[in-house]
Amino acid sequence: SIPLGYFAGVGALSKRGVLVKGGNYLERLKNLDIIIFDKTGTLTEGVFEVVDIKGFNNFKEKEILEIAAYAEKHSNHPIAESIKRKFGKNITKDNIEDYEEISGYGIKAKINKKEILVGNKKLMSMYGIKTPEIKYNGTIVFVAIEGKFAGYIEISDRIKPGVAEVIKNLKNLGIKKTVMLTGDNKKVAESVAKELEIDEYYAELLPGDKIKLFEKFINGVSTAFVGDGINDAPVLTRADVGIAMGGLGSDAAIEAADVVIMDDDISKLIDSIMISRKTLKITW
Ligand code: ADP
Ligand code: MG
Repeated sequence: SIPLGYFAGVGALSKRGVLVKGGNYLERLKNLDIIIFDKTGTLTEGVFEVVDIKGFNNFKEKEILEIAAYAEKHSNHPIAESIKRKFGKNITKDNIEDYEEISGYGIKAKINKKEILVGNKKLMSMYGIKTPEIKYNGTIVFVAIEGKFAGYIEISDRIKPGVAEVIKNLKNLGIKKTVMLTGDNKKVAESVAKELEIDEYYAELLPGDKIKLFEKFINGVSTAFVGDGINDAPVLTRADVGIAMGGLGSDAAIEAADVVIMDDDISKLIDSIMISRKTLKITW
């Protein structure tokens, strides 16, 4: 028989904008050991802002921004959106050829017949492009033109308000460990993890790395994964409870998830655990 609490719990959560795709997930929410989070769009706003642009080798800031905006024309990655927003002009001329978005790396394209790369350090290494040591705090998007480093754009994201409190409350609810996974650089990951007092973090992960790493955590423990991206879908499926952000979240993530937080307010994670514990005490 189905405990009465399942209906009460699913109903109470739906009123709070949390969609639970089956009563059995309430049972699992009740007894979680480890909660693993994606960073961008889950713990942070996922709305990046350009904070610095630098040109090298005679390239001007304006040129770096323009080239990057053109390269990102067809991408809807939050990084791409922020660069296009900063550029501010319409990208109409269609002189973009051989466009390729490399998930976890960035963009490769030909613009005005020139070979352009726009993305992270891994993308630059992949094409043998040397980048200078730079001091930075945010996410760095490198720009290379015709096989040579030409400049970079620094962009920054913000931690969502109230997330530090949520992490603290999870500890108070008896969650044994919190973990953060991200494709972003180590420096950004470290500062977010520190500020939020997240127990462990793993940075510079490629899409396939997330699922491999996740397997490490699931032996004999009950896990939840909270994420929003297309890349997160395999891990959302694999977790005992996969939790997706309904607002910023990609369709693939929402589809793969067991629980959807419709308004992306991560404090609803606390409500979900508390309601599962309260309502599952009710039986026939
Ligand atoms: P996350 O795991 O943090 O959600 P992604 O896997 O989407 O991040 O991306 C990881 C990294 O790959 C980004 O931090 C960025 O350095 C690079 N990247 C991905 N897509 C783009 C793009 N369109 N333009 C520039 N860089 C990109
Ligand atoms: Mg993400």
